[in-house]
Amino acid sequence: METKQFKAESKRLLDLMINSIYTHREIFLRELISNSSDAIDKIYYKALTDDSITFDKDNYYIKIYIDKDNRTIKISDTGIGMTKEELDDNLGVIAKSGSLKFKKENDTEDGHDIIGQFGVGFYSAFLVADTVTVISKAFGSDEAYKWESKGVEGYTIEPCEKDSAGTDIILKIKENNEDENYDEYLEEYTIKSIIKKYSDFIRYPIKMDVTERKLKEGTENEYEDIIEEKTINSRVPIWRKNKNELTDEDYDNFYAEKHYGYDKPIKHIHVSVDGMVSYNSILYIPEKTPYDFYTKDYEKGLELYSNGVMIMNKCSDLVPDYFSFVKGIVDSEDLSLNISREILQHDRQLKLIAKNIKTQIKNGLLDTLKNERDKYEKFYNSFGRQLKYGVYSEFGAHKEDLQDLLMFYSSKEKKLVTLDEYVSRMPEDQKYIYYAAGESIERIEKLPQTEMVSDKGYEILYFTEDIDEFAIRMLMSYKEKEFKSVSSGDLGIEDKDQEVTESEEKENKDLFESMKTILDGKVKTVKASKRMKKYPVCLSNEGDLTIEMEKVLNSMPNNENVKAEKVLEININHDVFKSLKEAYDNDKDKFNLYTNVLYNQALLIEGLPINDPVEFTNNICKIMK
Ligand code: ADP
Ligand code: MG
Repeated sequence: METKQFKAESKRLLDLMINSIYTHREIFLRELISNSSDAIDKIYYKALTDDSITFDKDNYYIKIYIDKDNRTIKISDTGIGMTKEELDDNLGVIAKSGSLKFKKENDTEDGHDIIGQFGVGFYSAFLVADTVTVISKAFGSDEAYKWESKGVEGYTIEPCEKDSAGTDIILKIKENNEDENYDEYLEEYTIKSIIKKYSDFIRYPIKMDVTERKLKEGTENEYEDIIEEKTINSRVPIWRKNKNELTDEDYDNFYAEKHYGYDKPIKHIHVSVDGMVSYNSILYIPEKTPYDFYTKDYEKGLELYSNGVMIMNKCSDLVPDYFSFVKGIVDSEDLSLNISREILQHDRQLKLIAKNIKTQIKNGLLDTLKNERDKYEKFYNSFGRQLKYGVYSEFGAHKEDLQDLLMFYSSKEKKLVTLDEYVSRMPEDQKYIYYAAGESIERIEKLPQTEMVSDKGYEILYFTEDIDEFAIRMLMSYKEKEFKSVSSGDLGIEDKDQEVTESEEKENKDLFESMKTILDGKVKTVKASKRMKKYPVCLSNEGDLTIEMEKVLNSMPNNENVKAEKVLEININHDVFKSLKEAYDNDKDKFNLYTNVLYNQALLIEGLPINDPVEFTNNICKIMK
C-alpha cells in the first residue's frame, strides 16, 4: 500500500504536535468532539432543508469508547462522514492555513504558543496518540475507507467495512515517559471530566459506557460493577443557559473552544432578548489583536444560529466594521434556516438584531471604561485604531457612537485620557481642545509649538497614530469645544506678552519678505512670533491641512503630493534673530545662508525631510568657519 506524504506545512505542524512540551494535551478531545458535532450538524442541516431526508434525533450522537488493554480511545460519530477524496483532502493538509503563517512570524522554541492559540483541530490527536486511525463512511455512499497515520512519515488510505454513515477516530495512546503520564487518558474519570469541561454544551449527546459500583440486588452489602451507557454532556448550549449558572471560566472556556482567540477576553456580554425580535447571544471583547487583524485577510463576523442550528459561521452583517474585533454567537428563532447570504443582508429581523448588538457592544465598552479602566486600556491599545477608523469612515456617520470610547495620551496626566475627562477639567478661559501630532510622545514633547500652550497651563492631547488627526477632523468638536492643532497659526490664546506688536511687525516687514523670496515658494509666509522660548523657529500652518496630515497623505501609495500652507515663524526674542537682522543689514550672502539653515531646522524639528541634506550640512560648516 502506498504511503502518502503530508503537505510540507502539515508536516511541520504534526512534528510540533508530537514533540512539543505542552501542558494542555487534553484539548485533543475537545477538537475531535467538535469535529464530530460539526459532522452531525451537516446532516442535520441537510435534513432540515431537504424533505427527502429524515432526521431522527435519537440516531445522532457521539460515543466515546475506552479500551485500556489495547490502549485506545475511539471517538465515534453518526455524522456526515468522509469520502476517500475527503479523507485525503481534509486530513492531509493543515486545516487552519493561518496558523503556520503565524507560527513563522512568532517562532517559539517548543511550539507551545501555536497549539494554545489555534487549537489546530484534527492534528491535536497526535498530542496523545502515536497512531491515529480514521474509519469513515460518507452519507449516501456504499463505500467506507480507513485512513491511518503514525505521524510525520505520512498516511495510508484503504477500503474497509463500516455499517452506517459516520466516522470513527481511533487513537492509540502513547506510552508513558519521564515527562508525561499518558495513562490518565485511558481513565473513564479523566475523559468524563474533560468532556464536562470543554464540551458540555455540544448539542448532541456524547455517550460513554460508565462503570458504577452498585449494591447487588437482593443483598445488603455485596457490590458489583454495573456498566451503563450514559450521556455525559448537559447539551444545553451555553448561550441558552442562565447567566447566574455560569462562571467566568465557563465563558473563557467557550471562547477557547470556539477558537475565537488565544487571549483571555476582557469582557463577555451575554444577553437574551425577547421582543420585536428574539435572540440569545454571547459577545466577547478580546484583549489582543489577532495576527491578521489590521490586514485585508481579517474577516469580521459572528456565528449565526437559527434555533440552535448553525447557519453561518461568520455573519458579517451582525457587527459594524468599527467593532469588527467582536467575537461571538447569535442564536435567533426568528430567522429561517434556508435563508441565503444575499437575502440575509436585507432581512429585517437580522437588521434589528444587528442594531441591538451594536448598542450592547458600545455599552459594554463604556462600562468597562468606567469600571475596569486597566482592562479597557489593554483593549484600547489593541483596537483603539479601529475605533478611530470608525470615527473617520463614512464621513463621520458613526462619530456620536464612538467619541466617548476614544482615548489619547495627555501631556498633563502622562497617560491615556478620554475627551470627557479633558473637557471637564478645562480652565474657563480655554477655548479649544489642543492636540499635537507627531511620531512619538518623546518627539511631540520636544515640539516648539507645544511650548506656548503648555506654558499657559493647558493640557495637550498627543496624536501619535496616522489616523488620529483625520478622525478628529471628522469629529470637529466634542461637547461644543473645537479641536485645535498646536501648530495652527491662530491658537486662540490671548496673551499680551506673546503678541507681536504692530510696530514690531512693521519694523521687520522687509526682512521677512526677503526671507520669503529666498525660500522661493516653500513657505506661504514668514512672520514674527513670540510664542516660543527656547526655539528660534518653527513651522505652523494656515488653512485646513496641517503639516502632520501632509506627511501622512504623502506617505500613502498613489499620493497626490498635497502641501500644507506652511508659515515660518521666527522667534524675535531669540538671540539668533539678532544675528539674522545684522546679516540682513550688512551681509546679504550671510542672510541668505541663515535663512536656508533656519528653514531646514524648522523642517527637521517637524520631522519633515529636508530637500538637500548635503547642502544643509555644508551650510552649517560655512557658519562655523
Ligand atoms: P476544522 O474543524 O477547523 O475544519 P480540523 O482539522 O478539526 O479543522 O478538521 C479538518 C476537516 O476534516 C474538517 O473541516 C472536516 O471536513 C473533516 N473532519 C474532521 N473530523 C471529521 C468527522 N468526525 N466527520 C467528518 N469530517 C471530519
Ligand atoms: Mg475542527
